[in-house]
Amino acid sequence: MYKGIAASPGIAMGKVYLFKEQEIKINQNKIDETQINTELTKYKQAIQKTKQQLIEIKDRVAEKMGEKKAEIFDAHIMILEDPTLMKQVENKIKDQLITAENAVNQVITELITVFENMEDEYMKERASDFKDIGTRIIKNILGIRIQTLTEVEEEVIIVAKDLTPSDTAQMDKKKVLGFATEMGGRTSHAAIMARSLEIPAVVGLSNITQKIKNKDTIIIDGNNGIVEINPDEKTLKHYQAKKQKYIQETNELKKLKDLPSQTKDGYRVELSANIGTPQDVKKALANGAEGIGLYRTEFLYMDRDSMPSEEEQFEAYKQVAQKMGGKPVIIRTLDIGGDKKLPYLQLPEEMNPFLGVRAIRLCLKHQEIFETQLRAILRASCYGRIKIMYPMVSTVEEIKKANQILNRIKKQLDKENIPYDKELEVGIMVEIPSTAINADIFAQEVDFFSIGTNDLIQYTMAVDRMNESLSELYDPYNPAILRLIKNIIDASHKAGKWTGMCGEMAGEPRAALILLGMGLDEFSMSAVSIPRVKKVIRSITKRQAEDITKKVLNMKSSVEICDYLDKELEKI
Ligand code: PEP
Ligand code: MG
Repeated sequence: MYKGIAASPGIAMGKVYLFKEQEIKINQNKIDETQINTELTKYKQAIQKTKQQLIEIKDRVAEKMGEKKAEIFDAHIMILEDPTLMKQVENKIKDQLITAENAVNQVITELITVFENMEDEYMKERASDFKDIGTRIIKNILGIRIQTLTEVEEEVIIVAKDLTPSDTAQMDKKKVLGFATEMGGRTSHAAIMARSLEIPAVVGLSNITQKIKNKDTIIIDGNNGIVEINPDEKTLKHYQAKKQKYIQETNELKKLKDLPSQTKDGYRVELSANIGTPQDVKKALANGAEGIGLYRTEFLYMDRDSMPSEEEQFEAYKQVAQKMGGKPVIIRTLDIGGDKKLPYLQLPEEMNPFLGVRAIRLCLKHQEIFETQLRAILRASCYGRIKIMYPMVSTVEEIKKANQILNRIKKQLDKENIPYDKELEVGIMVEIPSTAINADIFAQEVDFFSIGTNDLIQYTMAVDRMNESLSELYDPYNPAILRLIKNIIDASHKAGKWTGMCGEMAGEPRAALILLGMGLDEFSMSAVSIPRVKKVIRSITKRQAEDITKKVLNMKSSVEICDYLDKELEKI
């Protein structure tokens, strides 16, 4: 049995698909003249193999995602067979007496530098194509198997060191029963993705990829953060029974779907869902979401080789607004940076990306990206009840600058006679301590707040949210976090504004007790969590929740708080 962090609820069992790549080691030693022909042959065979692979991927992508997306692979094949490039590599092998992989690496690195230094944005972006091709050829020279999650053909459980957002975007969701990773905490994007797909996941399992082989049998218990490898008959039976029970419970809870999210004494809150794509709306509604409290638009920008156009974005936002049929939809503007990268946006490497040019900071530096997105959101705002939310705001000036741009776009649209919702609300995520502390000042500048506890905890506790070895410190129930949350809610109410929460904490049943007591207006979470939180809210009075909160705010440690909350939860 291996213990990790419970990242997405449910129990899954099946065959392992090990997503693990061998490290690339380039032999820098000189070769002697007798080896030249061997190295040249290795290179030529690698080119043929790479071409074959690219054609296969191209066909697969064309079939699954359309011809347009597959076109990029034609460009890759052209680069691969470029005669000048091939000559350069061959000359290096012959003249400098270096290995084939070393020659490819040198030629490609030189090319990447040339492209990265070009003025033209489009040409700059081509550097990542060369990087991709170069790595592919080198892996084929070295005989390293190249893996992508698009090639998963049967139902499997993915075991990986880490799954980046673009890895999960490539996955054929129907084939993946669950996943287990070495890296990441409950709020890593792999975990959030698993919850939105409603597949069980356990993260933070140290060295799991070394303890497991492809096709091993694995059980993932996403409720308790447990993984079993090649279980015996008894363990398998035990988990089959648990799985059945969990499915039954979930089905029972789903019956609450159309009942109001209100306390026993009739106090109403809004229960909303966090989504990443328009397709997620279906699950949100199936779980009884009364709105979308967070639409993470960055997924629209990932797993592709150029920015989505205004039209493409407009269509996606419009679809969500329409599918939600007049229920509120909070569209968060682009939150790129941190662990979410766009390969086609060549940004400088940063020492601490989570403290770097991320989200609104990036949008204010690259205003053309921001403007396109704002235009698309505004245009879509006529098709439902859209609100805009800026992420990672740390100063009031950022809101002012962002609003200036928004107003400029509104004026453009007015001029062009393009309609948009003139009453559209604009809010911010409160996920940085400076903003939480100064919530009273920020409340004057916005229509609403949404508390992003995933980041608020990491920045307040100085704990990387992805670092599994510090998961104990990454704690929503630390009194510092609870005090900040109370400060934010109180400040917004004093200014006549409302506050929601879209961090994962909003989906924890025991947190619901105190958030309700503090007067949180909207709870937004992974759709799967809605029924459980609704059950808590419907089982208590507002007064009871307030009493519980008062006691908790006088407690000094998270252990004391959690013990107390768990006991209260058992009573209701
Ligand atoms: C948060 O930080 O709480 C949040 C909801 O945003 P993300 O997880 O996308 O950073
Ligand atoms: Mg965040």
